[in-house]
Amino acid sequence: IGRHKGQRASSGFDYNGVTFDEKSVQLFAGLCAVDNRENVDTMMAALAKCGIKTTRMGAYKPRTNPYEFQGLGAACLPWVFESAGKHGIKVIAMEVTHPRHIDEIRDAMERAGNPTGVMLQVGTRNAQNFELLKSIGQQRTFPVLFKRGMGITLEESLNACEYVASEGNPKIVFCLRGVKTHLGDPHRNMVDFAHVPVVRRLTRMPVCVDPSHAIGQAAAPPDGLPDIFHAIGQGLIAGASMVLVDFHPHPEAALCDGPQALRMEQLPALQNYVRLVREAYVAAVKA
Ligand code: PEP
Repeated sequence: IGRHKGQRASSGFDYNGVTFDEKSVQLFAGLCAVDNRENVDTMMAALAKCGIKTTRMGAYKPRTNPYEFQGLGAACLPWVFESAGKHGIKVIAMEVTHPRHIDEIRDAMERAGNPTGVMLQVGTRNAQNFELLKSIGQQRTFPVLFKRGMGITLEESLNACEYVASEGNPKIVFCLRGVKTHLGDPHRNMVDFAHVPVVRRLTRMPVCVDPSHAIGQAAAPPDGLPDIFHAIGQGLIAGASMVLVDFHPHPEAALCDGPQALRMEQLPALQNYVRLVREAYVAAVKA
């Protein structure tokens, strides 16, 4: 991730026709958990209408409660890839919780024969699952979206990324997603997006923010913009160049994290908001 070479040259990488770096803004808007074909197709169609080529889709879900929906796993991959191909989606961020998931994804991708790629997501709960990190580092097919550990130091999370990079895969995006506190935060987690410039200063990794898991609810104050938008604003104005955000066609019926899902009709407004804040960031850096 660049620290041990004393480099600070901007890194980033191209993958499947999409650039993931500090200069190009990418939005991974999508389903926290894949639940059925219709919702996947509705999501992909909405993205295509907005000209967005990246998304998030959770097939393997690391749930806190074993009695809650655990994700559809490999079973949903054929139709997720089919829908992505149909709508011109180029990259799907997808969490893996076990090394065998990497093979399942590669297999499904090859069978689909369509041009959609996957960025392997390491969730906060697996931030120090070193065997998983090494497996992800050893494969060369997929880049990685690493979520900071929710209860460990930033330094420990950066070291975890070294487990991926030192095994040979330097294509890593670092994602901030809030940290746990004992303070009864009104949000799900304490938003940690002021760490964006710290990660950019210490490493070569482009930085993503996940306001959905940081905030945990789609509530809005009287000015109409949900807390999630405001958190995205904080992340972008601090220099993040990617945003991972949950949407759902019917949040009230979502099988996972429905309360934090934005509605499909909020996608164009979100896209516009991201553009405006990014422009403000670029202007502020130049001024
Ligand atoms: C997710 O993005 O679906 C997720 C579970 O996030 P986190 O690992 O940040 O909790």
